Formats: sequence, structure tokens, C-alpha cells
Amino acid sequence: MTDRNTELFLRAQRCIPGGVNSPVRAFGNVGGTPPFIASARGCRIRDADGREYIDYVGSWGPAILGHADPEVIRAVQQKAAQGLSFGAPTEIEVEMAETLCARVPNLDMVRLVSSGTEATMSAIRLARGFTGRAAIVKFEGCYHGHADSLLVKAGSGMLTFGHPSSAGVPDDFARHTLVLPYNDVAALEETFAQRGGEIAGVIVEPVAGNMNLVKPTAAFLEALRALCTQHGAVLIVDEVMTGFRVGPKGAQGLLGIDADLVTLGKIIGGGMPVGAFGGRREIMEKVAPLGPVYQAGTLSGSPVALAAGLATLAKIAEPGFYETLSARSRQLTEGLTAAAARHGVPFSAQAVGGMFGLYFCREIPGCFDDVMKIDREAFGRFFHGMLAAGHSFAPSPFEAGFVSAAHSAADIDSTLAAADRVFGSLL
Ligand code: PMP
Repeated sequence: MTDRNTELFLRAQRCIPGGVNSPVRAFGNVGGTPPFIASARGCRIRDADGREYIDYVGSWGPAILGHADPEVIRAVQQKAAQGLSFGAPTEIEVEMAETLCARVPNLDMVRLVSSGTEATMSAIRLARGFTGRAAIVKFEGCYHGHADSLLVKAGSGMLTFGHPSSAGVPDDFARHTLVLPYNDVAALEETFAQRGGEIAGVIVEPVAGNMNLVKPTAAFLEALRALCTQHGAVLIVDEVMTGFRVGPKGAQGLLGIDADLVTLGKIIGGGMPVGAFGGRREIMEKVAPLGPVYQAGTLSGSPVALAAGLATLAKIAEPGFYETLSARSRQLTEGLTAAAARHGVPFSAQAVGGMFGLYFCREIPGCFDDVMKIDREAFGRFFHGMLAAGHSFAPSPFEAGFVSAAHSAADIDSTLAAADRVFGSLL
């Protein structure tokens, strides 16, 4: 990597753990120096040395319109000029809550927070407060932010760094988290049969995007809903990544899931810090100040952040938006699959709306164990080959990728041409 990035990374490592403020940014899986981003526009990001890359990370999901969309930036500037935060209610919070309740299935009421982690952490507390039970079911390889109960056998950076459970989470906390294999109906049935009366809720990524991309089976989704209903547990569908990403109604709309609680983040903030949790009225009425489950935030519902989110939500509601987005993702995954095949590289790929999975193995993975069979070394060489050619993918074989509305067919073609050369150099 060129000089200015190296210099910044060295400086950063002296005063920030690992030189980064979120672990996956440190290139722990693939090695090397991460480019420090100076600016971005559309699908292109530019590093501290002035090098440009076509970006398939999209700030890990929020940048569905591409970077620095002019209407989003204008909305932020106008709102900022009116004052940054007041610690008092504002009209834009009502607009965002109404918009989310109108567009996300099963959302009667919603509370706005500042990150996906806060959304899932609060939803877990609420499920526990609502049911009076302690146990939570989560699935291996799913990541739901870094709250204590959820850092058990988690995905994303936890997988990348090979420590799927975190130090600092007492066994007393972790024992309330039951971890089951994703897409395993029998394991779910058995757990509910044995401990159904203790389970406050089940939290699931409706399309898993933190162990690369793994699609749910219809039988798994059906069993989740049926067992939660039968045993009085709260079904929490974590749409922090999939919300407005896989389709206009998120994974619930795409796959016909009925959540009791939904968590949101990423796209609803349009690149600014926003999260949300909401759901059925009788559950949401347990949240303070209406009910006994406490939840709060000095900067919650930040008007400037919500201005970015609402401007984004307005643009993605335009007719044809998701058709074009999905076509671009498919162009990428189908083109990469064809290029790998031309060079005899074991590879597969798939897309769901504007998110995609790339796998250095022949068959598309259907569960966590399949994902563990990916050829990490081949991925690392592909990643660095593409980065050197000016195409930036997530720096880990265990993350999903993201396409934006700012990626043109020609942008994707240029990535495919580079991939053809890189695949050719792999064997
Ligand atoms: N849930 C899911 C499904 C996520 O993908 C993430 C972040 N990648 C989170 C929760 C946590 O969100 P945040 O990083 O905003 O805290």
C-alpha cells in the first residue's frame, strides 16, 4: 500500500486499538494495510493517497444510493443549519416513525436509537421484559451487534478474527443465550420441546449476512414462526442489514415472515448513525415511559441523522429502484461465476436484492459449517488482486457485499474485466 495510508495506519495503531474503530476495518483476515478513505462519491471511494476504487462495501450496507448522494447531503446540510440536537422531541422523528411503520411489515410502533447494536440490545431486553423469561435463542454465525447476550458464537468480525465468543461476557450472562445451527429445524424443535417455557425470544438474521451470505430455508422460517407462537416467545427479525436492502419491505416482505419485533439500522440512517426497533403494539407498550422496560439515549432520533435517512428512504421508494439494484447485483455475481469457471477456480456466488455472497467453494453454502469450508487463502489472493486493480470488496471471506444504485452496468463490467485477470492469476 502507498505511503500516506501506511503512515496513517502506523499513527492510528499507536493510539487506537488495532488502528481502527471497528475490528473488520483492520484487514485482520486478509493482511496488509487498509486504505484510509478521504472521500467518496457514487460507487467510488478515494483513499488518502488519491487512489480510487469501485466500492462493494458501501459502508457495510448503508450506502444503497452510493456515497455522498447530492439530495442526502443537501438534506443533512439544511437540517444541521437548524441546530444539531435538542434532547427534546422533533417533527422529523415523527416523520421517520410514520414512514417506517407504513413501509416495514408488522411495525405498529417504533423507537429510534443510534446504532444497530442499540436496536438489538433493546429488543432483547424488551422480549425479556414482555415475557418475564430470560433465555434467548440465536444462531451460529449470525451477528446482531456487540451487546453481551449476543456475542456468543457470533459472525462478522468475531468470525474474521477467529474468536466467535467475546472475553468479558460472564458465563452467567452467556448461559441465557442458546446457540443453534442456522437452518436446522430439528435443533430448533428439540430446544423448544426441552426449554420452551424459558425462552423469551428468538433473534434471527432473516438472510444471514455476517457469515458471508446464507439464505434461510422456507422450512426454517416457518418453524421459527410456529414455535415462537406455540411457546409464547417473541420472534425478533433482525433487519439491520436486510431492511430496505433485499427489497422495499425488507426480508419480511420478500420472504413472507411475520415478526413480533423488528430491528433496523444501516440504510434507515443513510450513512448517519440511526437504528430502530419496533413491532407489535402490545409489546412496544412495555417500553419506557409507557411501560417498565427502560431504554433511552441522549442523541436518539438525531434530527440531522434522520434527515439523511428520510432523504434516502424517499429515493429508494421510486418505481423500479429494486429491479435495477437486483439486476446489477446479479450482473456482478453471474459475471464473477462465469469468469471463475473460465479459469477453473472453484467458486460460487449469489445475490438477494442489493446484497451478495462470493464463495471460494463450488457449492453455495447453506449453513455455517458449509461457510467454514471456503478456501480462505484463495479469497485473500482474490481480494488483494482486486484491490490493487481498484475494486474494493469486504476484507473477509465471512462478510456479504453490497451493490448500490450508483453502480452502473459499465462500472460492474469494469470489475468483471479485472476479476477475469485476477481469477486467471490464482491457479
Ligand atoms: N445486526 C445485524 C444483522 C448487523 O449486520 C449489524 C452490523 N453489521 C448489527 C446488528 C449491528 O449494527 P451496528 O454495527 O450499527 O451496531
